[in-house]
Amino acid sequence: MLESNAVLMGTTASQKLYGTQDERIADEIWQLVGKLETELLSRREEGSEVALVNQKLKTEKVVTISKALSEYLQLGQEIWRSGEGCFDLTLGELTSLWNIDEQVGEEKPLIPTAEEIAKAKEKSGFANLTLVSSHSVQVETPVMLDLGAVGKGIALDEVAGYLEGEPAVTCAIISLGGSVLTYGEKQDHSPFQIAVVDPNHRDKVIGCVKLEGRHFVSTSGAYERFFEVDNTRYHHILDPVTGYPAKSDVLSATVVSDSGYLSDALSTACFILGSEKGLTLAKMYQAQVLFVTTSGEILMSEELEGKFVKD
Ligand code: ADP
Ligand code: MG
Repeated sequence: MLESNAVLMGTTASQKLYGTQDERIADEIWQLVGKLETELLSRREEGSEVALVNQKLKTEKVVTISKALSEYLQLGQEIWRSGEGCFDLTLGELTSLWNIDEQVGEEKPLIPTAEEIAKAKEKSGFANLTLVSSHSVQVETPVMLDLGAVGKGIALDEVAGYLEGEPAVTCAIISLGGSVLTYGEKQDHSPFQIAVVDPNHRDKVIGCVKLEGRHFVSTSGAYERFFEVDNTRYHHILDPVTGYPAKSDVLSATVVSDSGYLSDALSTACFILGSEKGLTLAKMYQAQVLFVTTSGEILMSEELEGKFVKD
């Protein structure tokens, strides 16, 4: 087994490869993820496609984009529609205003004013954006893209594709923060066990999901990145309607899908929508979801019943 850790996409990343001792493969996987981040997806990385497109969107109505970005936006817009607008990849103005990631751990984090939030909301929203062709977008009012909710899922999709071309790898587990790819078959034929973190005690687990073969599992929760002011927790998943951190009946949403993009996007969306609407949304995309609710209950899609083992 070959094990390796890294810090990528603003989070800790780890990979376990079985069937090979070839360090090249491990290196190439991290390079692939790093390249996606710096060349395509990162909003902060100067020179990434998303940063360049955001720059242009400030002044231009029609902006040329790559086919890949267009596909990511198209699927994002579909989920935006199916999820009552709660999931939105054009919230860059709002997410950069809150700037939660950078403010985690700061002594005096700043909470934006209601006026600032209202202004940022005016410059947000998938309703303002039209995909004109597979190579361009058109905006009514300028918006700023933020693909933070799908970046890790997209990266894991790419990693899975890469592994298909490396037959020496018989089995792999790759994790990028709260998103995991299971791949292949373990030597003893036992299922993969993906731990589900207890959102109230993030060093504990509430149980695990047992999976065989290739799957993507992603968890979104209010415990991931947040700061607290006057006993109120401000976390990094925002409700586009209020402009404030989202509140629902759940503390975390874990989504299992055969697409990395979908598992990542739907875990964010399901966290915002809450358990009832979230279950319906996951079903629409043939995905399964498991919720830990604010009252401590564990709710899940029927298909997960036999696969989740409580601790
Ligand atoms: P994590 O980054 O912890 O894996 P998520 O996948 O849930 O968590 O994505 C959260 C990120 O998505 C935020 O940091 C922000 O960049 C972006 N985001 C916040 N609110 C929304 C939303 N309502 N729709 C889409 N993206 C969002
Ligand atoms: Mg997500």
